[in-house]
Amino acid sequence: TERIVVVGAGHAGGMAAIALRELGFSGSLTLIGDEPHPPYERPSLSKGFLSGAEPEPVWLAPAERWSALNAVLKTASPAVAIDREKGEVRLADGSTEPFDALILATGGRVRRLPLPHHPAVHYLRTTDDARALAAGARPGARALIVGGGVIGLEAASTLQGMGLSAVVIEAGERLLGRNIPAEAAQWLAEAHARIGVDVRLGRSLAGLDDTPDGGVTATLDGGETLDVDLVVVGIGIIPCVELAEASGLPIDGGVLTDDDYRSPGDPRVFAIGDVAARLKDGAARRMETWAHAQTSARKAALAILGLPSEPEPTPWFWTDQCGHNLQILGDPSAADAVVERGEGVRLYLRQGALVGAVCLDRPRDFAAARRLIGKTLKPKIASDPSVDLRKAA
Ligand code: FAD
Repeated sequence: TERIVVVGAGHAGGMAAIALRELGFSGSLTLIGDEPHPPYERPSLSKGFLSGAEPEPVWLAPAERWSALNAVLKTASPAVAIDREKGEVRLADGSTEPFDALILATGGRVRRLPLPHHPAVHYLRTTDDARALAAGARPGARALIVGGGVIGLEAASTLQGMGLSAVVIEAGERLLGRNIPAEAAQWLAEAHARIGVDVRLGRSLAGLDDTPDGGVTATLDGGETLDVDLVVVGIGIIPCVELAEASGLPIDGGVLTDDDYRSPGDPRVFAIGDVAARLKDGAARRMETWAHAQTSARKAALAILGLPSEPEPTPWFWTDQCGHNLQILGDPSAADAVVERGEGVRLYLRQGALVGAVCLDRPRDFAAARRLIGKTLKPKIASDPSVDLRKAA
C-alpha cells in the first residue's frame, strides 16, 4: 500500500491518519474534509465550548502535528465521488486523489425536523453550529429543546447553566431511551429537575410560528403552545453513506464492514467511526461515540498495514449533564441480573459475568469495571461500595 486516502477529516478520520503514521506507514497520506477546520473532537460542542468555558474547540492535534505527520490535509474540500475502477476519489473542485486503500470516515449529518428553515432553530454537530447557538443564547432567554437524547439533554443542561430557561420535549415515554438503562436515565431526569429544566415526556413538536419579537411560538402535538426565543433540535443523525452507496458498496444502516472495518464489497475500502455499520454476531451495528471513533480508526489502520490486531477495549461512552458525569460500559441490555453498588453504580451481569456497567460520578468504579468485563463477579462483594470492586472477581 503506497497511497492512503481518508475521506472525512473528523475525529475518526483524523485518528486514522495519526494511527497510520504511528504504526509506521510511510507512503502518501491524504485527509479530505469538507469542514473549514482541521479535525476536532465534538463532545465539548454541547458542553464547555457551548457555554464558553472552553474558548477553543478541542483540536484532535495541534497544527504542528499535522505538518509533522507529513499528511496532506485538505479542508473545505468535499469528496463527491469514488471511482473504484480507477481507484480514485473525486473532489468538488474537480481534482482527483488516487488510492491503494480508502478510509471512509464521513460521520453523520443531523436529522432535521420536517419544518421550513427558521433562524431561531439550531442543530448541534459542528463548531459552527455551536458558535451560532451560543451567539443566540442570552441569559433570560427561553430555549425549547426537541429530543431527550444525549445531545438534547446536554444542550438543555448547558443552556440552563448559562442562565436560560430550558424546556425539553421528548416523544418517547422516557429520556435517553436509545442507549442508557432506565434507572440511569432516571438519575439524570432527577438532576435536570433539580436545576430547573422542564422535561415533558410523550410530547412532540407540531409547528413553529414567528412572534413579533423575533421569537417563535412552538405548537406541541396536543395543541399546547410555548413562546420561546430559540429551539435546539437533537433528534439523531443520518450516517453519510452517499459516496459509498453511489460507488456500489454494501450499505446496511451505515457503510457495511467486517470486524476489521473493511468493506465486504471491496478489500481496499474501510469505513470507521459513526458511519460504519460493523457486522458482529450476525447484525450490522453503528456506534456513535468518541471511543468508537478512536478504536475503529486504530483497528482499520492495523488491518490496512497488515499488522496483527490488538485486544479491543469494551465499548463505552459518557455524558456530562447538570454537573454530573455518567459513564456507560458494555451492553447493559444483555444482562439477566443487576447488582446495585450503592448510589450511582449498577453492574450488569449475564450468567454471573460482567457485561455492562453504569456509573454516576464514580470514575474509580468505572475504571475497575472496565478491567473486570467478562469476569464472573461475586454479587455480595460487588454490591458493597466500601470494598474495592476489583476484589469481586
Ligand atoms: P465526525 O466527527 O462527524 O467526522 C466526519 C467528518 O466527515 C465531518 O467533518 C464531515 O463534515 C466530513 N464529511 C462528511 N462527508 C464528507 C465528504 N463527502 N467529503 C469530505 N468530508 C466529509 N461521544 C461520546 O462518547 N461522549 C460524548 O459526550 C459525546 N458528545 C457529543 C456531543 C456532540 C454535540 C456531538 C455532535 C457528538 C458527541 N459525541 C460524544 C459523539 C462523537 O463526537 C462522535 O461519535 C464522533 O465525532 C464520530 O466521529 P466521526 O469521525 O465518525 O464523525
